[in-house]
Amino acid sequence: MISVSLENVSKTYGDNPPTITMDLTIESGEFFTLLGPSGCGKSTMLRMIAGFIQPSSGIIRFGDSDVTRTPPNRRDTGMVFQNYALFPHMSVAQNVAYGLNVRKVDKKEKAARIDNALAQVGLAGYAGRRIDELSGGQQQRVALARAVVISPSVLLLDEPLSNLDAKLREETRVQIRQVQRAAGITGIYVTHDQAEAMAMSDRIAVLEGGRVHQVAAPREIYHRPATAFVARFIGRSNVLPVTVLGSDATTVTVDLPGGSRMDVPKAPDLRPSAGDPAALSIRPEVLRFTDGPSPLLRGTVRAAEFTGASVTYEVSMEDLTVNVTAPDHANGPQIGDSVGMTCDPDRVWLVQR
Ligand code: ADP
Repeated sequence: MISVSLENVSKTYGDNPPTITMDLTIESGEFFTLLGPSGCGKSTMLRMIAGFIQPSSGIIRFGDSDVTRTPPNRRDTGMVFQNYALFPHMSVAQNVAYGLNVRKVDKKEKAARIDNALAQVGLAGYAGRRIDELSGGQQQRVALARAVVISPSVLLLDEPLSNLDAKLREETRVQIRQVQRAAGITGIYVTHDQAEAMAMSDRIAVLEGGRVHQVAAPREIYHRPATAFVARFIGRSNVLPVTVLGSDATTVTVDLPGGSRMDVPKAPDLRPSAGDPAALSIRPEVLRFTDGPSPLLRGTVRAAEFTGASVTYEVSMEDLTVNVTAPDHANGPQIGDSVGMTCDPDRVWLVQR
């Protein structure tokens, strides 16, 4: 196990602004995800960590060692790609053996390590199969076995589940985490899929346009998004424009759309001034309908989406639409109803607009 430090690591192409800049440490044994929409620079960062791309500036350290100029094959990383990158006409064992051959591991140890790696990914007994006889999910597990058979210090995964269907994606993500945990390898994972990132990661860096919006554990990112972008990108959120009316050490008073006032928790590093524009992130399950005389928000129900245990309502306010998720209930509001909504102030979060 080893930590990976990215000290102001940046990549710039030509005269463009930097494609990506990051300054953080991924802890030893951690499963860390770079999450963001297409083009945000996450693959570029992963490829710099792997050594396939040279940073324009900054230092990459594995533990205490500066590996910034170390070639990929000397970095002690295993990599899993979106398209598997296997040799299709070779057997499973021959594919998994690749890194062991390069390292000139002797025959007996090689066979034992291949068996062990295949067992770890649930493919014991598949050693003699040809790659082109396997399903996509099985192929990706071979790729995972090939990456971990060399006992790397760092496992790098670039959108490894993108080519699999929904059910296989869920199964394979559990397996990836099991293998990474059991082997005690530091894992760095790239995805654009926020649900996948939330389910798998110890911590997530949320990226957009080469900028790091937030680095935190999934719960923190969900409940305390740093910016409006994070609030919108992670799960479903209502991001309401608000105006700051005033603040003290622990709370900020804001003016909500529709004119109600609300005292919301203040992040320690936030120094809002009266009149500042801000945004309030309210998760749909935090909003609830109320018949009370002074609801925080009012609107008209436009749609209702039944998902089994709960219903998500689309409620339009003047020029805004909010989502409210409520348990499925026979007496729930109907489309066209005027509704009042309220929420627990401790469960909302003020973000930069
Ligand atoms: P992501 O993995 O988040 O989809 P990438 O890291 O692949 O994003 O790319 C980030 C940005 O860098 C994109 O806008 C892409 O066009 C740009 N980019 C990547 N490689 C090069 C290159 N060799 N030359 C110029 N621009 C590049």
